[in-house]
Amino acid sequence: MESLSGDIEEVLFSQEQIAQVVGELGARITDDYAGKNPLLISVLRGGVVFMSDLVRRIDLPIALDFMAIASYGPETRDMGVVQVIKDLDDAITDKDVIIVEDVIDTGLTLNYLMTNLKARRPRSLSVCALLDRTVRRIADIEVKYKGFDLPDVFVVGYGLDFKEQYRNLPFVGILKESAYGDDDLDSV
Ligand code: 5GP
Ligand code: MG
Repeated sequence: MESLSGDIEEVLFSQEQIAQVVGELGARITDDYAGKNPLLISVLRGGVVFMSDLVRRIDLPIALDFMAIASYGPETRDMGVVQVIKDLDDAITDKDVIIVEDVIDTGLTLNYLMTNLKARRPRSLSVCALLDRTVRRIADIEVKYKGFDLPDVFVVGYGLDFKEQYRNLPFVGILKESAYGDDDLDSV
């Protein structure tokens, strides 16, 4: 590998476009949650880059927490079954919670997560996703804060990985076929 960005076929969302959209989302959240102290929950690991930029565009007292989950795709028998690998550190009862996600695809992961979090009785629960690929949606989810609509292409960068690589690219892009090597995308 020569350089990380040399593996990119096409940049879908540039660093500048992302910064602009993240600023707009931060401003909306600042307005909508005025007088409140929202708790932002990021889903490890992909959501972390987005979360770290987003919180710096929110002008409110906020708190952060993290959760890690392992999901099994719709091709497996246990469709939508998600395992909590790392739970939140603190209780969310009576908190105004915002889930911060990198990308929503089928929505099955988030659907499970929201059911799990709702059972803990937050005061409110909303979703902020950088990328929303609605064409593959299975679960019905209200994405209150959405960055970009994503076509049916696999993307990397700005938190999103292929085999744990490319998360640190400052933009979202499509990988060159050569970067996949012999790996089948369906196994990601
Ligand atoms: P869902 O349960 O919504 O189908 O799964 C969403 C998860 O699948 C994301 O959090 C992410 O881990 C993964 N994912 C979905 N689409 C992409 C993509 O285009 N690129 C990458 N790197 N991961 C994706
Ligand atoms: Mg994710």
